[in-house]
Amino acid sequence: MTPLDRLGRPLRNLRLSVTDRCNLRCQYCMPEEEYVWLPREDLLHFEEMSRLVDAFTGCGVDKVRLTGGEPLLRRDLPTLVSLLSAKPALRDLAMTTNGILLAGHAGALRRAGLHRVTVSLDTLRPDRFKALTRQDALDSVLSGIRAARETFGSLKLDTVVIRGVNDDEIVSLLEFARAEGAELRYIEYMDVGGATHWSMDKVVSRPEILDRIARARGLVEPVAEETSAPADRFRLADGTTFGIISSTTDPFCRSCDRSRVTADGMWYLCLYASAGIDLRRPLRDGRSLADIAALVESVWQGRTDRGAETRLTVRDRRPFVPVSALRANPHLEMHTRGG
Ligand code: SAM
Ligand code: SF4
Ligand code: SF4
Repeated sequence: MTPLDRLGRPLRNLRLSVTDRCNLRCQYCMPEEEYVWLPREDLLHFEEMSRLVDAFTGCGVDKVRLTGGEPLLRRDLPTLVSLLSAKPALRDLAMTTNGILLAGHAGALRRAGLHRVTVSLDTLRPDRFKALTRQDALDSVLSGIRAARETFGSLKLDTVVIRGVNDDEIVSLLEFARAEGAELRYIEYMDVGGATHWSMDKVVSRPEILDRIARARGLVEPVAEETSAPADRFRLADGTTFGIISSTTDPFCRSCDRSRVTADGMWYLCLYASAGIDLRRPLRDGRSLADIAALVESVWQGRTDRGAETRLTVRDRRPFVPVSALRANPHLEMHTRGG
């Protein structure tokens, strides 16, 4: 059964965060000096995550993406991947990672049944990587990308484009991706929780990204496809394809079929939702799978969220959540929600 929400959108995609901890401090996600972490005892065990995924697949989910924080900081991640990859209802099992630890884990993840990997990569310059993430770790990320390509055959790279930070690398990152056999997706800088340094003038819009690529590489054509995926895809004359996720200037809420579960089992219907639904309690109270699936179904049927579209109507836009509110409630953070 696939329930529809109040705007007629099915529930297909689940982003499952396996930890809120991270080994980077990306300027656009975790720019503060101090963070409040989820209590360890609240973090779901792998069997609990697997049960939750069963409840979601019962409601139409057929794609799961493991995320974080940094998912590779969660010990024994291949054990979770084995549990999930054994589920016939899942057509797609992917992971988004910053790549630092990927070289050491790619083989085990593949053997456990992970289908696909996306690596976040915002710069090819070591000094800029360090300034952007507070770690001198670009070489490890590049090794991770190579290992993923060798192990999985292909991969995606995600780049958050920020004016004055890395927008001068739009074309060089595309060339790097092509040379690595990867498809690059540019992501517009979003004003989500965690992006406490966000301002509209730092956002490089889809038309501007396209214009910069066209000026350097000639004709850019849209790839026509019917999909609910957030990225619009484009092709260059030499066959290179890439995507742009214009979540800030032209959001795709009208077809949004995704939701997010945090590492402690809170379920968020939208990246901008201020409150989530506690699924840990029913799990730990021993409620049946059918009960939890019924809860998921009924909540989804009441969903009206279209956070990014609503943000478009805000005049004098500033970071979505002030630092004090993030400290009081780490669930509002992007690194807790999984991006
Ligand atoms: N740590 C992993 C990584 O960086 O790939 C997975 C979690 S991270 C929160 C997931 C995605 O969210 C990353 O691709 C990251 O670039 C993106 N992200 C974080 N903050 C963002 C922001 N303010 N605007 C747009 N994308 C953002
Ligand atoms: Fe960067 Fe991902 Fe960590 Fe956020 S969770 S700081 S995007 S590596
Ligand atoms: Fe979906 Fe909310 Fe993002 Fe819109 S803002 S695409 S409804 S998660």
